[in-house]
Amino acid sequence: MAMSAVAFTNVAVTPTAQAPKALAARTTQPGQGDEARQGPTLMKLSSGLALGALACRRSMRTSRKAQAIDEKRFPVLSRSEAPLGVFPKMPKTVHPGVVTGQALKDLLNHAKENGYAIPAVNCVSSSSINACIEAARKMDAPIMIQFSAGGAQFYAGKGLDNTQFHAAIAGAVSGAYHVRAVAEQYGVPVILHTDHCAKKLLPWFDGLMEANERFFEQQGEPLFSSHMLDLSEEPLEENIEICVKYLERMAKFNCGLEMELGITGGEEDGVNNEDANPEDLYSKPEEILQVYDALSKVDNGFFTVAAAFGNVHGVYQPGNVRLEPKILDRAQKYIAEKVGMEEGSKPVSFVFHGGSGSDLKDIREAVGYGVIKMNIDTDTQWSYWSGIKDFETKYHDYLQTQIGNPDGEDKPNKKYYDPRACIRSAEESTVQRMEQCFEDLRCVNVLGLGPPAPPSNVMGPRRGGLPA
Ligand SMILES: [Zn+2]
Repeated sequence: MAMSAVAFTNVAVTPTAQAPKALAARTTQPGQGDEARQGPTLMKLSSGLALGALACRRSMRTSRKAQAIDEKRFPVLSRSEAPLGVFPKMPKTVHPGVVTGQALKDLLNHAKENGYAIPAVNCVSSSSINACIEAARKMDAPIMIQFSAGGAQFYAGKGLDNTQFHAAIAGAVSGAYHVRAVAEQYGVPVILHTDHCAKKLLPWFDGLMEANERFFEQQGEPLFSSHMLDLSEEPLEENIEICVKYLERMAKFNCGLEMELGITGGEEDGVNNEDANPEDLYSKPEEILQVYDALSKVDNGFFTVAAAFGNVHGVYQPGNVRLEPKILDRAQKYIAEKVGMEEGSKPVSFVFHGGSGSDLKDIREAVGYGVIKMNIDTDTQWSYWSGIKDFETKYHDYLQTQIGNPDGEDKPNKKYYDPRACIRSAEESTVQRMEQCFEDLRCVNVLGLGPPAPPSNVMGPRRGGLPA
């Protein structure tokens, strides 16, 4: 039973109550060849059922265990449907794990209608991904995990050749699979996205398109929820033309597109716009309408727009950044009137780049004008590092040699230099910083799950580890 392909325009809602029934039907009458595709849990279960009467009790135990595990699916291993309708405050299509197609569209529209934006964090390792999703569960909120081309390359490993973008493609796919393996376990919706892709990086983008198409053939949905194309350095006509071409391809597998017009100032991931023409830092309503018109014509296309309103990548001294969120408001009003939508509607879903270091007042104002996503990179780079810095400061004297510390010259220091110790400190610091991001964006308690239960551990505390 393949996951149903959910087109942006068709809402397919499967009540959760049906999921266990579907599982029971599959396990008592496994179809030919099903076992190989059902993953380890169900394979174990169906062979248990094949045993005779003596093994009946054991098989029932196995069955119960399999069902309990299947309640929290491992989406790349299990074939059951995503658990729909589990968030009291969300549209029914939005489910734990990676959301694509209609679920993505419904989630972003929910954000726009309810006046919050979703934090989108640039991640470079499984550790930074885990910290972000942990923070999302704490805040009872959805989150976006995204990879830049450089971040994706790092994810695959800096020792890997990247002359054909192979490392950047493999790293993004690897990160996507990591997110897909853990997101649903944390119980929150996750939007899986990639960041800036300039014209010279299009081979990277093409690789990701192929990965999406293959995943779609197998799973009925794209590997990623959406991708960003940033052709803002090209003339607007060319920018739009290339975006339309890709959106037509992406619409076939229900993947969303984020495009950029105007320029985000500052410096990020090797792209330096610190000397940009000041006029280019502010988009004009006519230009945004031109984009909206062209992309709206793509059948089943779904897109968001990163318009420039003075945003800058990186964190600079106060006073150097002049944000003008009103630009977004003026664009919404202008476009609503031009396309004949009623007054007060927000036709465009905007994206806020360069959110780090911005004034809370500006962030909130922008969210009010239809910003549904804010990118965060610099602030979580700092929080991750400062977690390691604080750890080193706290345990400095225990981190200088393998043996010998203030408690005795023969005392081993293994539990201090075990990388899990300082990496966990980095994660905790990032979770804490992310909590503020969620609050700034009013993205708190939007799922309706309430606070998470403290995690219990079947393996008990780690012997010889630092106390948690
Ligand atoms: Zn950006």
